Amino acid sequence: MRLSQMLFVTLREDPAEATIISHKLLLRGGYIRQIGSGIYAYLPLMWRVLKKVSQIVREEMDATGALECLLPQLQPAELWQESGRWDVYKAEGIAFTLRDRQDREAILGPTHEEVITAIARELIRSYRQLPVNLYQIQTKFRDEIRPRFGLLRGREFIMKDAYSFHSSPESLKETYDAMDRAYRNILSRCGLAFRPVQADSGAIGGSASQEFMILAETGEDEILYTEDGQYAANVEKAVSLPPDAVPSPFETFETLETPGTTTIATLCDALKCDPTQTVKNVLYGCVFDTGLVVPVLVSIRGDRDVNDVKLFNELSRRAVHYGATKVLALEVPDETKLKQWAAESIPVGYLGPDLADSCLKKQANFEAKFLRLADPTAAELTNFVTGANRPNYHSVGVNWGAKSPTISCPDVVDLQSAMAGDRAIHDATQTLETARGIEAGHIFQLGLKYSQAMQANFTDEAGQDQPLWMGCYGVGVSRIAQAAVEQAHDKNGIIWPIAIAPYHAIITVPNIKADDQMAIATDLYNALNAAGIETLLDDRPERAGVKFKDADLIGIPFRIVTGRAIADGKVEVVTRATGETQEMAIADVVPWIQGQVNQALQG
Ligand code: ATP
Ligand code: MG
Repeated sequence: MRLSQMLFVTLREDPAEATIISHKLLLRGGYIRQIGSGIYAYLPLMWRVLKKVSQIVREEMDATGALECLLPQLQPAELWQESGRWDVYKAEGIAFTLRDRQDREAILGPTHEEVITAIARELIRSYRQLPVNLYQIQTKFRDEIRPRFGLLRGREFIMKDAYSFHSSPESLKETYDAMDRAYRNILSRCGLAFRPVQADSGAIGGSASQEFMILAETGEDEILYTEDGQYAANVEKAVSLPPDAVPSPFETFETLETPGTTTIATLCDALKCDPTQTVKNVLYGCVFDTGLVVPVLVSIRGDRDVNDVKLFNELSRRAVHYGATKVLALEVPDETKLKQWAAESIPVGYLGPDLADSCLKKQANFEAKFLRLADPTAAELTNFVTGANRPNYHSVGVNWGAKSPTISCPDVVDLQSAMAGDRAIHDATQTLETARGIEAGHIFQLGLKYSQAMQANFTDEAGQDQPLWMGCYGVGVSRIAQAAVEQAHDKNGIIWPIAIAPYHAIITVPNIKADDQMAIATDLYNALNAAGIETLLDDRPERAGVKFKDADLIGIPFRIVTGRAIADGKVEVVTRATGETQEMAIADVVPWIQGQVNQALQG
């Protein structure tokens, strides 16, 4: 393609709307344009990248035996009501919903479990049809709370989603493992550094799930892993052995005045004790789908933090005890909320695990009884320090189950955030290291969730009706494309991995008025393209400096310059990734670049 004919517009300045480098570079390089919040046009260069990523995904899916299809984006509300997700997706506002002229509600597909399960229950009759795995590559719609970072978190984005159906959990596991391998292949072939990690399966519970993280310092996710390669997990899910507690010096129970000690640091300073000798008590409000709010009091060792995802999952499991089906939100109550909850003021900063229920006001849609939970780090402590339930006072030498005062230990549940530096569970000599990543994909053993809700059954070998076992597997095509830029760039611009670069080579003609330069450039351009090397020709009437800058900015792997050396039958070939420059005989250019490209595509 000739740049002069390409609607090729680059920007010198960083656009104000972008905060991270990959977003800035894609805007500056003329790859994307923002049309609205979280809505982007993929311009011709970007579309080529997206098609390459999609094609790699498609080849790897096809290699597992999965079948490509295309499902509707406009989906009737009834399907979502059947699965039970309509209310949640609407209440959380994540779904774009609309009404048609007959006043029927519909949703713009944020994901396709409902549609595919409806198809499966009609078409799958017998175990003989199983297993089957269907996938599509398509635009998804999600009204993200915080659309940001360009294509990394858009409101309209391209995803590959696959859904598999099975007659047994063993068969599901086989496909899940095949998808795991396919995802590793996809990311390797895209030329990316990544790490598969154990992931939170959400309120669905039990089932295994794994995320694939593209490593990047600006990634939204934190990964904890061990050097031995045996463990890697999203921090939302990670477990660890926390440091041992230092034995407590407080052997008798006492309540002490500790003014101005609302934090663990100030408390430990005042009492000359260690954070591992303290129990902090953290308040939450859990909002269930029935509208009921339950006050939750979590006790955890002072040096540890509550993991909101683990807490959310535990509360979801307990929803049935409150006549609810799911948790809508988990809130940290502010002063106004606390005033609504309690008649007298709640002494935040000085709470004990025995904060009395009697402080809570009886009122509609409110459970006037704390749900008390303790993390094992708190449950294991003896003679600890904790709040005395009155401002400026703490108790020391406290023991669970002691008679006077009676402080009983609540239900013990793992609720803590694992942290870098903790010891690993599988091998205490290994410590957890931290890294940041961008979630590129998520594979999931769903089990029977949707098939039971939507009555998608099959007949097994014994002639019995059984619900279908199901898996789902998503990969963010547009997110991968931008994550590649986040991973590989320099001060001059993008450095595309060869496999997903929009073009392999760009011929820069310093002076288009020089006939010999243009003649050699045009010959090379034709020869390279004929050899299957996707090549751009920068034939714009611009200064050489501008052309070099643009070539670096858009990140084409190889640049060929028809400069002074053409007098000796040579051109300059610059490798974008390394900056390496070599003078090369014109006849050698095609085979050399072809060798480089082939090597990268096979690697
Ligand atoms: P996240 O936690 O980042 O919101 P998710 O858990 O909602 O992701 P899934 O529903 O599992 O994501 O979707 C599968 C894949 O689609 C993700 O791994 C990611 O690559 C991509 N994806 C999800 N949401 C977006 C978005 N708003 N913009 C771009 N890509 C997205
Ligand atoms: Mg999401």
